[in-house]
Amino acid sequence: MEQKQFQAESKRMLDLMIHSIYTHKEIFLRELISNASDAIDKLYFRSLTDEKVGIAPDDFRIMLIPDKDKRTLTITDNGIGMTAEELEQNLGVIAHSGSLAFKTENAGNDTTDIIGQFGVGFYSAFMVAKCVTVRTRAYGSDTAYEWRSEGAEGYTIDTCEKASVGTEIILELLEDTDDEKYSDFLEEFRLRSLVKKYSDYIRFPVCMEVTHEHLKEGTEDEYESHTELETLNSRTPLWKKNKNELTDEDYNRFYREKFFDYTPPLFHIHSRSEGMVTYNSLLYVPAKAPYDYYSKDFEKGLQLYASGVMIMDKCADLLPDHFSFVRGIVDSEDLSLNISREMLQHDRQLKTIAKAVEKSIRNELTKLLKTDRAKYVEFWKAFGIQLKFGVYNGFGVNEDQLQDLLLFQSSADDAADAYTTLAEYVSRMREDQKYIYYAAGESVARCAALPAAELVRDKGMEVLYLTENVDEFALKMIASYSEKEFKNVSAGDLGLESEEDKTALEEKNNAAKALFEEMQKALEGKVKAVRLSSRLKSHPVCISSDGQLSLEMEKVLNTMPTGEKVQAERVLELNPEHPIFAKLEALLTENPAQLASYAELLYQQALLMEGLPVEDPVAFSKLICDLMV
Ligand code: ADP
Repeated sequence: MEQKQFQAESKRMLDLMIHSIYTHKEIFLRELISNASDAIDKLYFRSLTDEKVGIAPDDFRIMLIPDKDKRTLTITDNGIGMTAEELEQNLGVIAHSGSLAFKTENAGNDTTDIIGQFGVGFYSAFMVAKCVTVRTRAYGSDTAYEWRSEGAEGYTIDTCEKASVGTEIILELLEDTDDEKYSDFLEEFRLRSLVKKYSDYIRFPVCMEVTHEHLKEGTEDEYESHTELETLNSRTPLWKKNKNELTDEDYNRFYREKFFDYTPPLFHIHSRSEGMVTYNSLLYVPAKAPYDYYSKDFEKGLQLYASGVMIMDKCADLLPDHFSFVRGIVDSEDLSLNISREMLQHDRQLKTIAKAVEKSIRNELTKLLKTDRAKYVEFWKAFGIQLKFGVYNGFGVNEDQLQDLLLFQSSADDAADAYTTLAEYVSRMREDQKYIYYAAGESVARCAALPAAELVRDKGMEVLYLTENVDEFALKMIASYSEKEFKNVSAGDLGLESEEDKTALEEKNNAAKALFEEMQKALEGKVKAVRLSSRLKSHPVCISSDGQLSLEMEKVLNTMPTGEKVQAERVLELNPEHPIFAKLEALLTENPAQLASYAELLYQQALLMEGLPVEDPVAFSKLICDLMV
């Protein structure tokens, strides 16, 4: 019998296959089952209209037959089969997919990974088998053929006996090595779990004969066994079922089993789209962040299926970072099983799906916020910070879409659950109110206690309390909402005074010029200016900032591991109504040395109130003691 050579390209592919790393080899089964399913599909449709096919719809199936004695795994199907020409064409070359060239060109040294992740169809059999035999009889043909190959050497084709139409593929498994236990693929549990993992939603049954042992009736230690044909796959995926047929319990059970999360999800979104791309999706928003969610180990992504076959466990391109907590599945008939990761990234259809996924999550969250505030707050507590990061990291791209999903704690009594949206804040704004005010600090209590927050509240205006590091950065990104700018109560002009008030303060400031110069000298390098404040009510002093960088932002930036330190432009502000101010004025002429100590002390106090550390606690303490004595 003549030995035929593989085409050059196929040879290279074989080589890659054989050297693929072991952990990826298991996908050979997925590939062969998918091929079998495709072949059955072709005959199945025919059988619906053509009685001559002679196979009842329920009798189409794929069989897995492990044989430990012979060390073979056989995969059979009663599909359309192949003629001699088809055998030659389909299994002699890898011309149809065209993906090899792309894969090897783009993958650099990492081809093994790509093959493992995506597979290359039939050839993956050589990752686990030293010899592959394909026996096939095409529908409508009386002759069956046997294709046989031991890999790189080439293949033979011969006629053979085969009673029924269809294909059987016999894999003679490679010898086990220390690291690679190919005989595992003969174990029932292993085959069962591989079918579950990759081929659970193949629409034809994938069956295996399994042996059950049980006590012989009437005995206590004698066992008997019987074999039974078991279907290993669940066939119709939940996401392909009709919504009306499914209960919340069905969805929750599926979530639990699929994602190993025992806390029921907050909600799910199940949809089918038939526009530019046809796909089904089933998305879940978990109730709690997984333990590693806020660590760098966390990998976002949705499971991606091509016609019921899983091709990727975590497809990151399907989820924007701000929704990285979403879990779920996308299954599209328009994606090819053999698409590589690189191709996927540029795939237009995938991009279309990703966009639609993002939108549907956003819409669902918007709806939840409107209809079930308590549940939304629950969501917010788990993942709200991710949305704020989304606003911040999107450099202005996401803010329009996300700003109405943000919640903030606030000083308003009627903010539901102590949280408010920006729209709600604006609806409560006083007519003459120019800004959306916020105070930033490590806790709500801390923010509320800021002297400037007190003043704004006293004027009957609401203050947002920002307690997360990212908060102020996110607001800076949004810049304004409903044409109202955000204003940090501890920075710049709060816009609360009339022109007359301003002029009066200006005059007082001018009058105390000498005092401020003296104090600033004492605080050389620490503050940019000392001045009278319009933001103080009961406190004598506070620190504010000029410029874009607030004190809170300074704190946050300085905790980052970049090493670079930043400093906000600090201003020491004094309350002109407070007796301390009169005292300072008196000291200017009576005791300039003590004035310097007072300036230092007031500055350190102001730092403390802002939640900033005093610069030198020992010196600070000594200063107080000196004054006390
Ligand atoms: P792909 O499935 O991507 O086309 P494969 O290398 O897996 O690539 O298979 C090549 C071709 O061989 C298939 O397109 C199909 O025509 C044929 N083939 C493979 N397995 C079977 C089978 N079990 N029954 C019938 N035809 C098959």
